[in-house]
Amino acid sequence: MSVRVRFAPSPTGFLHVGGLRTALYNYLFAKHFGGKCILRIEDTDRNRFVENAADNLITVLRWAGIEFDESPEKGGAFGPYIQSERLELYNKLAALLISNNKAYYAFDTAEEIDEMRAKQAKDGGDTKYLRNIGRNSFTLGVSATDELIQSGAQYVIRLNVPENEEISFKDIIRGDVTVRTSDIDDQVLLKSDGFPTYHLANVVDDYEMGITHVIRGEEWLPSTPKHVLLYRAFGWEMPQFAHLPLLLNKDKTKLSKRQGSVAVEDFISAGYFREALINFVGLLGFNPSADKEIYSMEELIEGFSLEKVNKGGAVFDLQKLDWFQGYYLRTYSNTELAELLEVTLKSLGMNSRTQEYLEKIIILFKERVTFIKEIPEKASYMFAKPAEFEQDYFAKHWKENTIELILPLVNIYKETNEFTHTALHDLTKNFVENAGLKLKELIHPLRLMITGRSTGAGMFETMEVLGRQECLARIEYFIKMKEKENL
Ligand code: GLU
Repeated sequence: MSVRVRFAPSPTGFLHVGGLRTALYNYLFAKHFGGKCILRIEDTDRNRFVENAADNLITVLRWAGIEFDESPEKGGAFGPYIQSERLELYNKLAALLISNNKAYYAFDTAEEIDEMRAKQAKDGGDTKYLRNIGRNSFTLGVSATDELIQSGAQYVIRLNVPENEEISFKDIIRGDVTVRTSDIDDQVLLKSDGFPTYHLANVVDDYEMGITHVIRGEEWLPSTPKHVLLYRAFGWEMPQFAHLPLLLNKDKTKLSKRQGSVAVEDFISAGYFREALINFVGLLGFNPSADKEIYSMEELIEGFSLEKVNKGGAVFDLQKLDWFQGYYLRTYSNTELAELLEVTLKSLGMNSRTQEYLEKIIILFKERVTFIKEIPEKASYMFAKPAEFEQDYFAKHWKENTIELILPLVNIYKETNEFTHTALHDLTKNFVENAGLKLKELIHPLRLMITGRSTGAGMFETMEVLGRQECLARIEYFIKMKEKENL
């Protein structure tokens, strides 16, 4: 049997990271077994429909490196892959269920349903649809039902859930699941606007599209018994189910927008690399081996197994994501990173520099940042002379006699032939030794004058990249300001 899986998002806005994890696991599973991964757009809930959301989903998934074998864009033998284009099929199959007595018509208004549920809630019980009380094929009888339909009355089609039975199914991740039918509502299958509900359309399409494994988030687990009943009602063979663990905040509550970004789009615009996000999301609930954390897409495909997916919730730890981001940043070449830096500078409206100069900045900062976009701020002094000088740093390292001590060294810098970090290091070391000083007595003031900051890359490396002229100009400027008591 060849594997066919699907990612079936509803186009209700952005792509949630949980959705990315579901899409990714479907993709990994399909590729692992040389099967097919399908994208199906589930847009039957017209109240939640968002224009362009489907295109956006496709763009984001493509960015992530998840390509589908069949999709609305690509087509395929089982299309259309957009549910709103398959309405006829759902209507036909809903009618089939009616004729087999597996479903029935119901004419209750929204107010009547609210009232029915409110009454039950008041008595402290479930708030189910009461087949014996509502206005439906059961209470009205066949001819009254037909008459109503003929007269154009609004109706829905509900699933005829059998009484007092146990519904069991096997979930690859969670094991055996059993639910009593008394706990299942007579689910609406077809709505009064002629659109199917998620349940009907999802089951019909999984069957019609030859889906072998349904891999989706745990939040869909309560829907699965209804789906099992639908497969039975149609007399269709069921796919296998695998419900992926919930994504949790660090405090173990369900991952929510309130505690930070959850939209993949936000991670992309924050500057995360695809490799970092995929590696991180790939390990939310599964790890092929206990002693390895860095995985490429190919390695995730190779090691993927639904049996290895954890049951327990997976903590969405942003620090971990940043660790992956930093790791992958350092796998890029200096040239590539310099190009990214150039794009960032442009987007900030900053003047760019030569590629060569940007690469030197990359070498200085690559180990010190997680994102390229940190560089314009952290290394602002590589682009312009410092606009400010850190006050605490100044107070701590600037002494009455600093200028006096440092001027002879500055003269040495003026005259040396070689302005490289090794030459600067050796000259400075010699100088402090002869003068009976400590290196840090001069290094900190130098850093302050040249960069204005207490932190940064190695001082001599920084000076080499800035160049002699720039360093001397900054030192002179600082001393002048100091003399004028402007600092
Ligand atoms: N349309 C559902 C969603 O938005 C699909 C759930 C499923 O995979 O069955 O996630």
